[in-house]
Amino acid sequence: MSKVKYYYDSESLSYKKIERKKGTTFTYAFVFTLAAALFGFIFVFLASQFVESPKERALKRELQNAQLQFELLNKKMEKTELVLANIANRDNNIYRVYFEANPIPEEQRTAGFGGVNRYQSLEGFDNSKLIIESNKRLDIIQKQLVVQSKSLDEIAKLAEDKEKLLAAIPAIQPVSNQDLTRMASGYGFRSDPFTKVRKMHWGMDFTAPKGSPIYASGDGIVERADNTASGYGNHIRIDHGYGYVSLYAHLFKYNVRKNQKVKRGDIIGFVGSTGRSEAPHLHYEIFKDGERIDPINFYYGSLTAEEFNEMLEHASLENQSLD
Ligand SMILES: [Zn+2]
Repeated sequence: MSKVKYYYDSESLSYKKIERKKGTTFTYAFVFTLAAALFGFIFVFLASQFVESPKERALKRELQNAQLQFELLNKKMEKTELVLANIANRDNNIYRVYFEANPIPEEQRTAGFGGVNRYQSLEGFDNSKLIIESNKRLDIIQKQLVVQSKSLDEIAKLAEDKEKLLAAIPAIQPVSNQDLTRMASGYGFRSDPFTKVRKMHWGMDFTAPKGSPIYASGDGIVERADNTASGYGNHIRIDHGYGYVSLYAHLFKYNVRKNQKVKRGDIIGFVGSTGRSEAPHLHYEIFKDGERIDPINFYYGSLTAEEFNEMLEHASLENQSLD
């Protein structure tokens, strides 16, 4: 039971009961609750400024962890950059030099992305700087990889071409050493076997028994295999591409037809003495861009150093050619 309160009424000279309105009680209760709640809020707010909640501590730990992970990622990227720089260096200074391609400029390899801001969506956060820097770094690494990969594609193509060129160059002796009686005459001024007049001998003569096999000295296509060029008798011309043509004259027999593809070392015909020839031998010429050049410079690979020296001595003798 609540206390009953009285007051003294001076007019009626008696004590009267104080009647309390119901609304007033409610208002008191409301104000009290409001004040308590407000005080509570202020207290919790102030406390939260100095004391971390368990949830906050967990989030903070997570953030620190994320930062640490980002730093580790950056370290890995740094290593990747070093490896890439090493490859780029080898690419520019060895591979591209070897295949006579221009080096790729540094700016082109390490350029970022211009134009629109690709990192806008990453702005406005506590870690924006770290995240944007990491993204930029990775983007550059990616771009470097694309540039490097393209460069290596180009190198592979050049290497393939070079291999084709090396296979095409007429680089072996067209008659094997065991069949070779002697290297009769070299490129240069020689006395003509028929007129005895000193004149230019445009090829090399290899004496060998009639019927000895003649080998294609490089990959190519048989341009002609006939006897309609004066003096050469039965002869073969092979177009090797890259400006190289080789010619084999005075053949006894053919082993190839016109337009046939041949590989270095294929037997294309047999030694004879047809045309303007004094004895069975192979007359061999090499053309580069339409000009006849000395075949002696092309035998690397098929001769030993001694054999080459011997051939060089023979070839330089101003003897009589077999034509
Ligand atoms: Zn000759």
